[in-house]
Order: sequence, then structure tokens, then C-alpha cells
Amino acid sequence: MRRLLLVAALGFPLRAVAQGQATRDTIPRDTTPPAAYFGVTEYKLARQKLEQDMQRGGFSVYIIADMEGLAAAVRNQTEMRPVSRGGSPQHERFRQELTDEINALIVGARAAGATQFIVNEGHGGTLFRNVLVDRLDPEAILIRGYPKPIVMSTGLNPMVDAIMIVGAHANAGSPGIISHNFAFDSFTVNGRALNEAGIAAFIGGEMGVPMALASGDDVLTAETRQMLGPLETVTVKTAFSRSAAAVLPPATVHRLLRAGAARAVRRVRAGELRPLTLEKPYRVRFCLRQSYVKDEWVRATVGQLDGVNPGGGPGCFGYTSDSAEAVGNLLNEIEWTVLKP
Ligand SMILES: [Zn+2]
Repeated sequence: MRRLLLVAALGFPLRAVAQGQATRDTIPRDTTPPAAYFGVTEYKLARQKLEQDMQRGGFSVYIIADMEGLAAAVRNQTEMRPVSRGGSPQHERFRQELTDEINALIVGARAAGATQFIVNEGHGGTLFRNVLVDRLDPEAILIRGYPKPIVMSTGLNPMVDAIMIVGAHANAGSPGIISHNFAFDSFTVNGRALNEAGIAAFIGGEMGVPMALASGDDVLTAETRQMLGPLETVTVKTAFSRSAAAVLPPATVHRLLRAGAARAVRRVRAGELRPLTLEKPYRVRFCLRQSYVKDEWVRATVGQLDGVNPGGGPGCFGYTSDSAEAVGNLLNEIEWTVLKP
């Protein structure tokens, strides 16, 4: 996930950030709830609809496709943002890379017996429209556009056999490339820190679906193994800072992804990779990113969401639930607050 307010974290001139803040504060807020905006399929219904599109039997892989952890990607403004949103023509090249890396996972997984592939766009800076549809493996189902329920886990359901996350980035506060975690500086469930891959594993875990593979920089792969256990990981670059890394060429990354995906499917089929299970009720604690904490409207809107209680400092909240999907939906409502079309 990525959004425009990242500028602060990327070290852009402070004056630009201050001007951006001033502009945001003077524009009347769009307080339309998502359901009234375009019509949003409620998350349980979205899941049922996707289940109807899926084949019975076989082995289904759900691929979450983000961009910060792609081969050679190191900079948000030029590589992950289109010209139409103030970015660069280079974005097109990284859309191709994203599509290539997804296809590499599909080829590898298929070689190990996977039969169905659902791809969910996971990069928000472009409102979840990055994959080059006509170059994507023709057997994949692609979930594209925004708003969509539970953003990075839209439609995830118990018919899925394995989740994979490609182009992933490390957690907020870590030294990984463009590291962040949705709109949060911290996010824990029962005291356990979860990055974006971990949150998807938490939602899938409740459905009995394991997170089988994560690819991105060395910080992401190490922290995700520590968080979720010995899943398959593909390290595509070694981070030197949040915007510099020693990178592997795409062709090498694609080869590693094919091999990793094949191993991941075999290991799930052998019962080696287990779903993440946490004890209920899930006690969620989160602190909004500093740039949002300063934004009184964002802070107040999040504080008024159903079931959310303040606590733990400015911009920090608690939420308790017996449903990981409901936690995912809460996250979606927070995303809607900070990430408007
Ligand atoms: Zn992203």
C-alpha cells in the first residue's frame, strides 16, 4: 500500500510537506461513506461472489501484488506513481515488472500442481490499478480498482489453498525500502506486531489458509519469517536505506520467484506451512502514522469508527473482535479515511 502523504516519510523538503498539509486543510473534506460513493459490496458478499467465480477442487493460489518490493524498485515518486498523479513515465516499466513477477509466481505454482490463480492488486498509490491486464497470465482472475472490501485481502475465502505476496515491503519503522504499514506506525494483534503480509496471513489464517510466500527486500523477508514462521521467501534486493538497495536483475528475480512458488505449493500440500492462528478475542492496538496523527480530521474520523476506543497515546486506538475479517474491514474503513479517489 502506498499513499500520497508518503512524501513526509520520504524526506521531501519540509516546505512542500507544509504546503501540502495547508492545501489539505483548506479543502472541504469528503465525508461520503464508501458505500454511498460508488456502491461497495460488503466484505462477506464480495467473498461469496468470488467463490462463485472460482473452480471447485484443484489448488487455488491468492496472490497479493504490491510494488515497493519489486525487482529494482527503490523510489516511490518515479517508479510507483503514474504521470497522471504527478509521477513519472518510469511507472509503466514497473507495471510491466509487477505483471512479470506475478506471472513468474503463477508459472512456478502451476508447475507444482496449482490450478487456479486469483490476483488482488495491493498497491494503493494508483488506487489499485497497476497490473497490465493484457499481459497477465490468461488463467488468472484479477481484482482491480477501489474502493474494495478489505483492500489487500478482498474476496479471500476458505476455498483458497495458499496466499502469496509479491512486491511486498517491510513494516513501518523498519529500515526497508519504502517501509510502511497501511496508515499505521504500529499495528499489533494480541501484542504481536503484524506487517501488511502478516495482516493478510491473520485474515487468511482464520479461514484455514496459510501465507506461503513473501517476496521483497531483505528486511521484509527476515521480519515476515520471524512473524509467521518459515514460509518461503524470495529476497530481491538488500536495503541500504529506505530508497537505496543492492538489487538483483529482474530475470534472476523471476527465476527465484518461479522456484519459490513451486516450493511453496509443495510445502502447503505436504502440510508443512500452517495457517496463522491467534487466540480469540483478537485484541488489536494501532497507532496512526505521524502525518495522520497531526491531521485532526483523520484522527477524529478514525476515533468514531464502530468499536474503536482511544488509548495508548495520541492517534493510538484499541479494537477487540472475534473476527479477523471484521478487523480487515476496520482497516478498510481507515484506508477509506486516508485514501480517497
Ligand atoms: Zn504499495
